[in-house]
Amino acid sequence: MARGALTAGVHGADAVEENAAVPAPRLEAVHGDITAQDTDAVVNAANAALAGGGGVDGAIHRAAGAADLHAACAALGGCDPGDAKATPGFALPARWIIHTVGPVWAGGGRGEPDVLASCYRRSLEVAGGLGARSVAFPAISTGVYGYPAAQAAEVAVAALRAVDTEVALARLVAFDTATYDLYRSLLGT
Ligand code: ADP
Repeated sequence: MARGALTAGVHGADAVEENAAVPAPRLEAVHGDITAQDTDAVVNAANAALAGGGGVDGAIHRAAGAADLHAACAALGGCDPGDAKATPGFALPARWIIHTVGPVWAGGGRGEPDVLASCYRRSLEVAGGLGARSVAFPAISTGVYGYPAAQAAEVAVAALRAVDTEVALARLVAFDTATYDLYRSLLGT
């Protein structure tokens, strides 16, 4: 938190100079499928029961192996919005899946930005604790949960730029070109 307070809104490269011991991760955006990412960990936009579902959650379950992942999730006892919990990646290229629960959009006045930012921070905390050095994120909450894509992208980038983490690379995976363009614009790439 100390570093985040010092460097909120500052690009990661600048933040490194302020606190070389715990740099912010390098950020990159790609247009693609989260299940194909070769990062150490991939993040799943899960539901609070960790019961599997549609969208990115369904894709991850299918690609990882639904029976294995369902059993691993069932042992975790659910997950609160803004929190994150890990399972193995099973058949995915990634070694770990970090399951996080985004906020359901209710107009923006019910703490949705804080909960969404927490998803990004907690996912990196959990991933870093496991030894992951690269993590790929889907656009959490922007599907069925209804978070407006542009606002969600701003929250994601701001949260990742302000975080203290051992993770060296945070990759934002856009499933559609509009989201990809949002990320590129925010990252200046
Ligand atoms: P939520 O319930 O958090 O809104 P969704 O899975 O409905 O989660 O959607 C979150 C985002 O994930 C959406 O932007 C959707 O386009 C995207 N998405 C869906 N499938 C994939 C996939 N295979 N890889 C990456 N992103 C995906």
